[in-house]
Amino acid sequence: MQAPVEPDQRPDVSHGDGDHDRFAHYVNKRDLERFRRKGTPVTALCGKRWKPDGDPSRYPMCPTCAELVADRIAGSLGS
Ligand SMILES: [Zn+2]
Repeated sequence: MQAPVEPDQRPDVSHGDGDHDRFAHYVNKRDLERFRRKGTPVTALCGKRWKPDGDPSRYPMCPTCAELVADRIAGSLGS
């Protein structure tokens, strides 16, 4: 008999760095396209890698991503 699938399904929501899942992150458009086509996890500006699901507009903005984007905008305007 084949070994069954391990009954090791943890809930996606953890109290560690999984808390990031409750935020909407800034993601490169190319990453998002690749995810839609191939299911490749996306990498957010803040470095979080995950597979987006659901509607990001339901979540508050990730503070780290928001800061990085603000920095970028400030940088591009300042030069
Ligand atoms: Zn983020």
